[in-house]
Amino acid sequence: MARIGDLLAAGRTYSFEFSPPKTAAASLSLGHTIAELQPLGPSFVSVTYGAGGSTREHTRDTVLWVRRETSVPPMAHLTCVGHTRDEISAIVSTYVEAGVENVLALGGDPPKNPAEARPSDYERAIDLVEHLRAEADLSLGVAAHPEGHPRSPDLATDRRHLAEKLRLADFAITQFFFDVEHYVSLVNDLADLGVTKPVLPGIMPVTNIAQVTRMAELSGAEFPAWLRDRLEAATDPEDMRRIGIESATELCAALLEVGAPGLHFYTLNKSSATREIYAQLGLPVG
Ligand code: FAD
Repeated sequence: MARIGDLLAAGRTYSFEFSPPKTAAASLSLGHTIAELQPLGPSFVSVTYGAGGSTREHTRDTVLWVRRETSVPPMAHLTCVGHTRDEISAIVSTYVEAGVENVLALGGDPPKNPAEARPSDYERAIDLVEHLRAEADLSLGVAAHPEGHPRSPDLATDRRHLAEKLRLADFAITQFFFDVEHYVSLVNDLADLGVTKPVLPGIMPVTNIAQVTRMAELSGAEFPAWLRDRLEAATDPEDMRRIGIESATELCAALLEVGAPGLHFYTLNKSSATREIYAQLGLPVG
């Protein structure tokens, strides 16, 4: 069984997200990370996509490598930005031929330099979901933003758009967040809008304050003062890492307690933080 929708219907899933390597050295390092994480028995792994196709070949090659060389089902990310329908059809047919059954359909972010923008046949992720549904028999996921998408006028509007998109998809995966309440309100708001599809929380263990501050600014996630204070009390980088992993473990435990259908880890292509959280949570291995 390799379709994420089916896996979620059968029980909780535990999954890991990677970025495609762009150099031979990065490929070796990612191979090593995946080998270290494989004994944890992940339900699936996902591979990000540079909006506008900047990592097109790297994402495809990594997804196909996971499909061929490991027993873990892969999920390919795809974005609307800068793509025609024909380009998306070509990418998807390569995946289908190789037996890849899962795609995360995303809007993607426009390039920082507007001069680099390429025309797109899609306005929103929902348009890509509709195209993929018509094109292939895939299990389809979409992105959810617990604290609202930064380009949305307000949270209620973002929730309505998400509900509309998730009705057509099989599951959602969230942007990272640090307070369990953000996840609970997202799931409750969707239920109020009549959508009860599984929403997997995205987990980002903070082991480097500067890096996560930058990522939080871009994604619209709050980096809460209580977490910053806790991390800033660290005596050295190793202590900060320990505190970050402890905080992420507490968030995971709280999410499982409120009934999350699984956990999706943003690994940043490293295995150790995820492995430590697994051990601290006492999750089944293999
Ligand atoms: P959309 O669903 O298109 O939403 C974008 C905005 O449009 C939102 O503000 C939404 O409220 C609004 N909107 C939706 N429908 C309507 C409507 N009908 N009318 C008006 N407004 C509307 N980015 C990458 O480039 N590559 C990746 O691999 C990648 N992976 C990700 C993985 C996860 C789990 C998550 C959560 C995000 C990921 N992203 C990735 C980031 C994502 O592409 C950005 O957050 C992007 O800005 C929005 O994507 P979306 O799929 O939510 O877009």
